[in-house]
Amino acid sequence: MKQVISCLRERGIDVACNVPLADHTTWKIGGPADLLITPNTKVELMEIINILVNHGAFWMVIGKGSNLLVTDKGFRGAVIKLNQALDYARFEGNMIHAGAAYSLIKLAAMASKHGLSGLEFAGGIPGTVGGAVYMNAGASGSDISRIFHSAEVIHETGEVRMLYADELQFAYRHSSLQNHRGVVTEASFQLASQDSESIRQLLNQHKEARLKTQPLPFDCAGSVFRNPPGHYAARLIEQAGLKGTRHGGAEVSTKHANFIMNTGQATASDVLALISRIQEEVHSQFGVHLVPEVIIVGEQ
Ligand code: FAD
Repeated sequence: MKQVISCLRERGIDVACNVPLADHTTWKIGGPADLLITPNTKVELMEIINILVNHGAFWMVIGKGSNLLVTDKGFRGAVIKLNQALDYARFEGNMIHAGAAYSLIKLAAMASKHGLSGLEFAGGIPGTVGGAVYMNAGASGSDISRIFHSAEVIHETGEVRMLYADELQFAYRHSSLQNHRGVVTEASFQLASQDSESIRQLLNQHKEARLKTQPLPFDCAGSVFRNPPGHYAARLIEQAGLKGTRHGGAEVSTKHANFIMNTGQATASDVLALISRIQEEVHSQFGVHLVPEVIIVGEQ
């Protein structure tokens, strides 16, 4: 890592060592990353990937860390966090071109102001555009794939490619980006014209529904498990009698059983213990295996 650090610093790239990832996840949980690198331009981002790949360093990119569980030992390698360089949105007719670091919530609000419909589902998803494309984030019966046009992706080979919807193989919380190492830098979405007021009303309805059903004042990462085919994970967890179950500082929400809250001092081990307990209990009672939707990273 020393060589990587000096190589990055020689080029004037911001790099910090031993950075607690708890400060970069919505769960507010996670040990340190060896390196945290924040590119100031797209060219810098390409340079960073090139340096990391050439040195055989392990790396990952993060957005707002709203779907991440980082282990207590932390991440051995480099975390690239996209920031202001890719924090923009451009509106052109019915198309929106957004930088990967742009907030999805902000994008939904901006689309409503521009009288563009299609992003109402995203009004309460606290991730970035890049994270949303990677995850095919969705809610209220819609998801990113419904409005996705294309994305610019930097592959670890250094190749920059424009990928279109059919190449991303979108499925439930899945895109083909999950099979390859690469960084989304920009995504374009195709929306439909509609009057701003009706879009705003739908956004508000979704917001109110979230406030009623989700433990939003607590640090969390949204739904912990994917919905298994034919089931709702939250219902299975509730029927298994697990609402309110605690491990250390982690608790299965009594408001939404698929949310695990950090009640203040939760560790990743606490959350992992609850995840295992839920999986065992749901499997033994209903014969259904729950698969985490949150992405678990870091040294075990
Ligand atoms: P991160 O959590 O930072 O990263 C997630 C994954 O995306 C990682 O593997 C990361 O490597 C990858 N990634 C991030 N940026 C890029 C990029 N630029 N290029 C390539 N890969 C990238 N999700 C839903 O789908 N629906 C919901 O309704 C929903 N509700 C939520 C409610 C709350 C309160 C919270 C906290 C979370 C919720 N989530 C929901 C989960 C989360 O917000 C989404 O999965 C979101 O898309 C993650 O975006 P992010 O930028 O935070 O990504």
